[in-house]
Amino acid sequence: MRKEEHIFNYVVDQFADLQVLRYRVDGFDSLTLRQKKLVYYLSEAALQGRDILFDQNGKYNLQIRRLLETLYVHFTGDRTEEPFLALEVYLKRVWFSNGIHHHYGCDKFIPGFSAEYLKALILHTDISLLPLESGETVEAMCDKLFPVIFDPSVMPKRVNQNDGEDLVETSAANYYEGVTQQEAEAFYAVQKAQGDTGHPVMYGMNSRLVKKDGVIQEEIWKVGGLYGKAIEKIIGWLHRAEEVAENDSQRQVIRLLVAFYQTGDLKLFDDYSIQWLKDTASRVDFVNGFIESYGDPLGMKASWESIVNFKDLEATRRTELISSNAQWFEEHSPVNPSFKKEQVKGVSAKVITAAMLAGDLYPSSAIGINLPNSNWIRSVHGSKSVTIGNLTDAYNKAARGNGFREEFVYSEVEKELLDSYADLTGDLHTDLHECLGHGSGKLLPGVDPDALKAYGSTIEEARADLFGLYYMADAKLLELGLLPDGEAYKAEYYSYMMNGLMTQLVRIESGAQIEEAHMRNRQLIARWVLEKGQDGQVVEWVKKKEKTFVRINDYVRLRELFGELLAEIQRIKSEGDFEAARVLVENYAVKVDAKLHAEVLERYRSLHLAPYKGFVNPVYTPQVDKSGEITDVTVSYDEGYTEQMLRYSRDYSNL
Ligand code: ZN
Repeated sequence: MRKEEHIFNYVVDQFADLQVLRYRVDGFDSLTLRQKKLVYYLSEAALQGRDILFDQNGKYNLQIRRLLETLYVHFTGDRTEEPFLALEVYLKRVWFSNGIHHHYGCDKFIPGFSAEYLKALILHTDISLLPLESGETVEAMCDKLFPVIFDPSVMPKRVNQNDGEDLVETSAANYYEGVTQQEAEAFYAVQKAQGDTGHPVMYGMNSRLVKKDGVIQEEIWKVGGLYGKAIEKIIGWLHRAEEVAENDSQRQVIRLLVAFYQTGDLKLFDDYSIQWLKDTASRVDFVNGFIESYGDPLGMKASWESIVNFKDLEATRRTELISSNAQWFEEHSPVNPSFKKEQVKGVSAKVITAAMLAGDLYPSSAIGINLPNSNWIRSVHGSKSVTIGNLTDAYNKAARGNGFREEFVYSEVEKELLDSYADLTGDLHTDLHECLGHGSGKLLPGVDPDALKAYGSTIEEARADLFGLYYMADAKLLELGLLPDGEAYKAEYYSYMMNGLMTQLVRIESGAQIEEAHMRNRQLIARWVLEKGQDGQVVEWVKKKEKTFVRINDYVRLRELFGELLAEIQRIKSEGDFEAARVLVENYAVKVDAKLHAEVLERYRSLHLAPYKGFVNPVYTPQVDKSGEITDVTVSYDEGYTEQMLRYSRDYSNL
């Protein structure tokens, strides 16, 4: 088989503040035919739910999407004229956001074309092609949709979090109709009080709350209920998946999910979640359902999403290898022995390969998942934590040659280091952080785990990062075969320092301070070692043509400094030394050097990089013999963003 790395195009499209990438499903060919069929059926089940999220995100989203698609496809004029291009960008954004509001910021986006232009296009289009609702005239449709599209004061935010306002009434998301925040809260307070308080289901998770004839009631998302048509299609494919499930445990997962979709019974959803946690032996796994609650200002209603995936055996072996040596790492760390665990058990995170993304994971996706969300199930049965290796890989590969390293890395020497090793060392540092860092060390007897209060999470992240950084340069990693040579760790050291001292500032708005715990932790570590290594010029600022760069002069001493800070951070944690935590965080982690920040923002802007990214899916094609049996499933990667969206709208539009 030919290696196609060099011709694989990771970047598919770019518009507005978005970049669309493509991910590879390496390892798919190594699955058995049965597993391939399973992936295929679950992928179809994933795609059938697409319209649900559009409707959840706003009640006019589906009609607006269909209107724009019709105009876009049937346009006969000059496709390069300014307003048409603006319409195309707007449509691409609607697809990306599954609606008319920004997927991340939640603000309604402003069209780059006028209402008059849109009206003219509509009037030039065959009326039979327009997505009119039953009995609706073209005029009535325009009167209804135009303010939604053009008037900035109408449905301005998908999710409003402004304290003091009625969050339900002022959010455009389609989870409530005709009810106030107070009414919604009161409605669910009653349900909660009446239910099983020891094992509470996720009340309100799978319904729209409406007031009809003065009565507040739930419209349940289930067969025969709201979204029933899409859910029936999903179930059809889940039945086929059930036939090729890998084992009884997984078969039971699918059956319980189907039963939940049929009844809307939240108790069944809990049963399904528990069974899903128990199924750890299957190579193929999936999520399909009402999962994420970020889209509801009250945090109850769950948006629909799906991911189909299979275990990345190679990468999972790596995390298991690290975990199985956890005791060795604990014993050899530079931490005071009284703060070490006598018996340490590594956490073995599973690395998965995404095969299909849908709903709230498409096109914009998480790179790690930790489910289920039910608190009582998590505390009794635990949770599944996975990292999605092939998405991270696509991000890394797509970033190659985008000019970022050329702009911010000090010299060719460092750039070559990063080009050769950074993908590998970045993953490895994450593994060390997750599998060992968080699980290492212990509190002294009687120390309150919350003693560090608001500084606790920054200190905890710093502890895990430092544990990883310290061991990146250890011969043990060479011995375990996790790094190819003694130079590789320098790539992680350089990128960590550059990021912590400068480049992560591109995510901070001008004038603001650093708030987020992971970002605080990175600056804390980078600034501390910069200062402590000052005398020996271990790390230093260098100017080249008015531009500021980070240079590392002494990697060996840098590792010692990481070790010293690790020992101190572990002491703070073990003793619950709030004052020391406060001083470290306030002195090193929070404040931003305004002059440097302005320079970094300016240099980043000049690269014209899109800050938000998403993915197109691969295409799976079953190969069928004369008798109709599937003999193989092939995967291809040649579909464009617009092509894929139009195909999905044509083949999977169920609502
Ligand atoms: Zn962490």
